[in-house]
Amino acid sequence: MQRERHRQYLEAIGIDLFVSRREGGARAAVGRAPGAAAAGSDPPPAAETAARWEALRSEVLQCTRCPLHRTRTQGVFGVGPQRADWLVIGEAPGAEEDRRGEPFVGAAGQLLDAMLRAIGLDRRTNVYIANVLKSRPPGNRDPRPEEVAACLPYLARQIALLQPKIMLAVGRIAAQNLLATDVPLGRLRGQVHRFGELNTPLVVTYHPAYLLRTPADKRKAWEDLKFARSVYQQRAKAQ
Ligand code: SF4
Repeated sequence: MQRERHRQYLEAIGIDLFVSRREGGARAAVGRAPGAAAAGSDPPPAAETAARWEALRSEVLQCTRCPLHRTRTQGVFGVGPQRADWLVIGEAPGAEEDRRGEPFVGAAGQLLDAMLRAIGLDRRTNVYIANVLKSRPPGNRDPRPEEVAACLPYLARQIALLQPKIMLAVGRIAAQNLLATDVPLGRLRGQVHRFGELNTPLVVTYHPAYLLRTPADKRKAWEDLKFARSVYQQRAKAQ
């Protein structure tokens, strides 16, 4: 039963006794299955889009635009269906991501997956996940501005191909770089920002690695997810 599953997801995140009675079980579907129609008219043929994705992935994996290519094991391009409505963006690969070539794996990745499942999202079906930086900064230090400047065009091209209906920036580094601001994360939460030429709604929340260190803030993250879900649903209704 959907409501029971929802409760189990919240427990997995570490938020129990937190299902609002007002929410009930009447939650709208929040994602689009792979292969479903994209928003807007006359999208490029699927084969052409797939070829563009592949070309971009190949560029990233061979990229030497910034010094991080010397210390990485491999580039970490992104994961998820190429027609997802949701795009989650983090900071940069960590050690486990660098080893496995996929964003958000390991403990933080498991928490992110549980958070996303709580609002009906899954990286295998309806959410795309990527990072601002595609290569791991040594020792997990913060990305340097010149590295972000070198790498952001790849993310911009991913966004142009995906054309998400909503973006979720997880963590301060992702949020501040996407919004070109140094406003603290706490003040970026709880509002709808706009990104790029398509004015894509962007919502900010905590990074799951931070939530593992600071479980008391998981409730705030859950509020952010519910907020993002409501923004998405309003947008889907209006279209
Ligand atoms: S971080 Fe980005 S710009 Fe730097 S080497 Fe990796 S893919 Fe290229």
